[in-house]
Amino acid sequence: EAYTRIKDVDEKVQAFLTLDEENAFNQAKQLDSLLAAGEKTGPLFGLPIGIKDNIVTKNLRTTCSSRILENFNPIYNATVMEKLHNAGTITIGKLNMDEFAMGSSTENSYYMNTKNPWNLDTVPGGSSGGSAAAVAAGEVLFSLGSDTGGSIRQPAAYCGVVGLKPTYGRISRFGLVAFASSLDQIGPITRTVEDNAFLLNAISGVDPMDSTSANVAVPDFTKGLTGDIKGLKIAVPKEYLGEGVSEEVRQSVLDALKVLEKLGATWEEVSLPHSKYALATYYLLSSSEASANLSRFDGIRYGYRADNAESLIELYKQTRAEGFGDEVKRRIMLGTFALSSGYYDAYYKKAQKVRTLIKKDFEDVFEKYDVIVGPTTPTPAFKIGEKVNDPLTMYANDILTIPVNLAGVPGISVPCGFSNGLPLGLQIIGKHFDEESVYKVAYAYE
Ligand code: GLN
Repeated sequence: EAYTRIKDVDEKVQAFLTLDEENAFNQAKQLDSLLAAGEKTGPLFGLPIGIKDNIVTKNLRTTCSSRILENFNPIYNATVMEKLHNAGTITIGKLNMDEFAMGSSTENSYYMNTKNPWNLDTVPGGSSGGSAAAVAAGEVLFSLGSDTGGSIRQPAAYCGVVGLKPTYGRISRFGLVAFASSLDQIGPITRTVEDNAFLLNAISGVDPMDSTSANVAVPDFTKGLTGDIKGLKIAVPKEYLGEGVSEEVRQSVLDALKVLEKLGATWEEVSLPHSKYALATYYLLSSSEASANLSRFDGIRYGYRADNAESLIELYKQTRAEGFGDEVKRRIMLGTFALSSGYYDAYYKKAQKVRTLIKKDFEDVFEKYDVIVGPTTPTPAFKIGEKVNDPLTMYANDILTIPVNLAGVPGISVPCGFSNGLPLGLQIIGKHFDEESVYKVAYAYE
């Protein structure tokens, strides 16, 4: 049944890169026999899920929306896939994204443009555009995305769904194809906050295969969903409602704050003074890490290999020239430059120092407040094609989500109204490993 719906809708939305009907059918049969044997059920048992195409799935093509991985069939599963398997979900297929998760509109996919289901002329956001669009269009109820600088929250906002970037370390990155390893996190995209918490329950936890996964307790994230936020203290950064943020977006956040106030929370304006440096810091650090991470795609180990190269070096060069798209090349060049001797101190090292200041901004605010609230994006979804030729405007789109990745804290986007028929997102940011408060506020507001 899920596939009938998907085939109907996906002709227009184009969220799925690969569908895996046969395997899904087999998984369902297996689950049936477990059920018949009275074996196990759970909140996610038997539910169809879509997976962003940078999460490695055993025997299921994983392209990162890049030509360079066109025919890559992994021989192992990401840790999150093993965990989902244990929870009894059924993997429906792989979802479109910006190539190697670099982008904000899913227009950097080598394969196709995904459309925003609310208005097919607009982008679904990115880089997890396929993951958000598939949930918004009712193709699946659950999906996984990844968020390095906003790639779960921004598409969730544009598509009117719920998307969480967990605390750095909450979820294993083993099997997530690395873009910027110090920022990347996998996270759930769903229709409701409660579904989101169920999915986080299933995929969280320390993993021996990922030394950056954190050995902290995993609470039941659905426990705090009571609707009671009396006495909760909210901080609203003035930088998040200022210049560049559209009037409708500002108004939608102020309206949301009224709702939260009615529910017994209080809010005050605060400052995150180093926010203005976040974009530059992020693009230096993430591109530097990407330039190192992407060096493994050489035409030898896996994926696409150029024909007719006459020497090994030529083979590397041609494979990478033909296999990577423009945006990926731009980041590799930027990152290689920032890391090169002579420029390292001025760019990479400086950016690391500013990152520490940005992190400290958040720590200072969280000394007095429980959560930070603001918009997810400065505007609603833009038209397909509108920003493709202007990378800087495209980058500016992530100005409100990027600081959260630099600080490593959790953040969620929940729908908060519309502007011209397009959804807007409210961003709720929490302390390290305090997804519970983030969910609590999101649930009360929803
Ligand atoms: N849009 C941002 C970028 O292009 C964020 C990407 C992401 O979070 N994966 O880098």
